[in-house]
Amino acid sequence: MRFEHLLDRFDTDAEGNALHQFASDLFPICRSITGNGVRQTLKIIAKRIPLEIREVPTGTEVFDWTVPREWNCEAATLRGPDGEIVADFADHNLQLMSYSVPVHQKMSLDELKPHLHSLPDHPDWIPYRTSYYRDDWGFCLPHSVLESLPDGEYDVQIDSALQVGSLTYGECVLAGDTSREILISCHVCHPSMANDNLSGVAVTTRLAELMESVPRHYTYRFLFIPGTIGSITWLAQNEDCAKRIDHGLVVTCVGDDDHPTYKRSRQGTTMIDRAVEFVLSQRNLPFVMENFSPYGYDERQYCSPGFDLPVGLLTRSPWGRFPEYHSSADDLTFIKPFALADSLRLILDVFDILENDGSYVNLNPMCEPQLGKRGLYDMMGGKQNIKDLRMALLWVLNYSDGGHSLLEIAHRARLPFPAIRAACDKLVEAGLLKAQPPE
Ligand code: ZN
Repeated sequence: MRFEHLLDRFDTDAEGNALHQFASDLFPICRSITGNGVRQTLKIIAKRIPLEIREVPTGTEVFDWTVPREWNCEAATLRGPDGEIVADFADHNLQLMSYSVPVHQKMSLDELKPHLHSLPDHPDWIPYRTSYYRDDWGFCLPHSVLESLPDGEYDVQIDSALQVGSLTYGECVLAGDTSREILISCHVCHPSMANDNLSGVAVTTRLAELMESVPRHYTYRFLFIPGTIGSITWLAQNEDCAKRIDHGLVVTCVGDDDHPTYKRSRQGTTMIDRAVEFVLSQRNLPFVMENFSPYGYDERQYCSPGFDLPVGLLTRSPWGRFPEYHSSADDLTFIKPFALADSLRLILDVFDILENDGSYVNLNPMCEPQLGKRGLYDMMGGKQNIKDLRMALLWVLNYSDGGHSLLEIAHRARLPFPAIRAACDKLVEAGLLKAQPPE
């Protein structure tokens, strides 16, 4: 199957439902930046795509950072004065602060309170808290529960382990005609949260699955890594590989029903920035383009000045700017099948540009060639817009002077890239156009 057929045959409903189902399958697992939850998640992903699971030992120096101890938790409960359960890790994994040290202790409510976290503005939600790099522990509760706690003796039982182990991440590389690469990166370090984490994991897994099924110009690298420490670790151990990345996207928060938001790479005008903006601008739907800022997800590391890679961030609701962010309300009802499918489609449309952009030369530049006698006015059947394709033939012929790429022509013509690409293919076939070899 050719890449173009992925677009022609794209079934939004089926893709959306399958993406939501996959997120649902992964939802109950307790992930963190290390530990068995990440391994379990990666094993499930590896059933769908050729995924290498890598283990980087605790204590490994990665630039200015060190791979931390591995964290796992068997059980954790907080019981009230009458022995009743106040918080239980088994009920909802957000109830335990991630990376909590082991604790087996009785204490008063006053001693306990500094270790309790809630969201007063959303009294029924459980917040998400972590303490990766400082030994601490805590329970996260609905504010309504916290407010109602009586004085008395509380029993804290946290059966966690912080041990020498490793940081686990997954890497799927699909070789293409060239060793130049497209990087897609998502984080797999959040426990039961859907938009921040699993939407990106589901869409990235499906992208890899689809791209594996077609011939590719580029080599594709899909990374499933713990946020921050994962990208730092990968970059520290793959400096040469990073030099081969021509285009990249960090993908997360792509399942809520808000419109897409794209944060440009640090360079700001790279091909990935222009391709995403073009695809979004063609849809006649709202979207937001933002300039790079050194805060957010792993684009912070890919775009650190020593690397300055052409990597942007694709989200729908942006990081930290939706109330459900980092809470139990970021659940499976918060992500929508149509939004997941729309995000997947958007990235495939971007891949179409990255795979097929190029500059061509018109071999018949003295006035317009006669298209009718070459059958070029009749060939446009099928689903695509015939008017677009006819216009695309004229635009491609006129601007194929070696100096304008197909994306630039599409931009100028305000035509969808697939129409420009299809016109180009037909003109090459008819002997009216040839590829301009890259300089
Ligand atoms: Zn997060």
